[in-house]
Amino acid sequence: MTPSLSRYRRITVKIGSALLVDRTTGLKRDWLASLVDDIAGLVEGGADMLVVSSGAIALGRSILGLGRRALRLEESQAAAAAGQIALAGAWSEQLARRGLKSGQILVTLGDTEERRRYLNARATIGTLLKMKAVPVINENDTVATSEIRYGDNDRLAARVATMMGADLLVLLSDIDGLYTAPPAQDPTARFIPVVDAITSEIEAMAGGAASELSRGGMRTKIDAGKIATAAGTAMIITLGSRMNPLSAIGRGERATFFRPSANPVKGYKSWIAGQLEPAGRLVIDAGAVGALLSGKSLLPAGVSAVSGSFSRGDTVAILGPDGREIARGLVAYDAADAVRIAGRKSSEIPAVLGYEGRSAMVHRDDLVVSRALEETGAMRTQG
Ligand code: GLU
Repeated sequence: MTPSLSRYRRITVKIGSALLVDRTTGLKRDWLASLVDDIAGLVEGGADMLVVSSGAIALGRSILGLGRRALRLEESQAAAAAGQIALAGAWSEQLARRGLKSGQILVTLGDTEERRRYLNARATIGTLLKMKAVPVINENDTVATSEIRYGDNDRLAARVATMMGADLLVLLSDIDGLYTAPPAQDPTARFIPVVDAITSEIEAMAGGAASELSRGGMRTKIDAGKIATAAGTAMIITLGSRMNPLSAIGRGERATFFRPSANPVKGYKSWIAGQLEPAGRLVIDAGAVGALLSGKSLLPAGVSAVSGSFSRGDTVAILGPDGREIARGLVAYDAADAVRIAGRKSSEIPAVLGYEGRSAMVHRDDLVVSRALEETGAMRTQG
């Protein structure tokens, strides 16, 4: 079911902490060596490979002798600092064994969410790839506090994969794919081999569970899938704990394959669509939904409710009358002004605000309609 990896030209692989670090013995060197053998094989076949590796905190715990107890924020950050050196060292040593260069990139949320920093990060990682070095990426856990964190490497990996135009994202996990329910708790759970589109039904299957070593449960993996597939990046979730986990996919071991969108959003629009935390929400009426579907801008007249505290240029989620998110865009007004002009005709804006504003609340160039709505729209036109 899952296509062989050799057909992909740029692959991002995300490795969960539990795969790399054993609670008592520390780094799993043999396993890492087998994964690097797979990576080297794909590079030899002509692919660009990117690694998003977790494990800094888990490794730092064992280096600093912190045991299993819950850590305070500053203790996890200290653990990340100690662990990251060892983690990056292990990667560069293993990659070098196979003749591969590597470079470490530590990112914080703003590096992918702010446009200027996003372009900068993309240029650095792109340069590493051009120089035939494998980028080894993690969140900069030592300085990031909760408001400025990704918090999980699943979504970070999806942001990196789409930023770099990868055609495949592989999430190596402690579970072999997506099930209709968490299989550990529900014996009737069925395995799902292929996901054509991430519908609300698929989202409902993702349990919230996360182990002590990994922050991401299935929830963050589905979020990652949404970001990736919308930008045209296929995604695979598979069990990482076996040796040579990437060649195992080609051998037909169990994995869930998420098909990429047939009409992916690219470049600037893909950056908008993948934004992790919209700063606000606009609820729109049925007429405006139709306008968005036919590629028009969102006018203030179609906005029935505004929430959140956002500034002009921030990302907002656009919700249909039923409350479902149907689009994302960069808003042309601050929240206070958006509230005042919501529901009003564009010609009334100067009188209401006292200045000549833009006629659109979200201009069509800054707006991305979600895949789910496009598909409903397509069904409607076919039916
Ligand atoms: N960045 C964290 C670490 O390296 C892990 C986050 C995650 O597992 O999702 O320890």
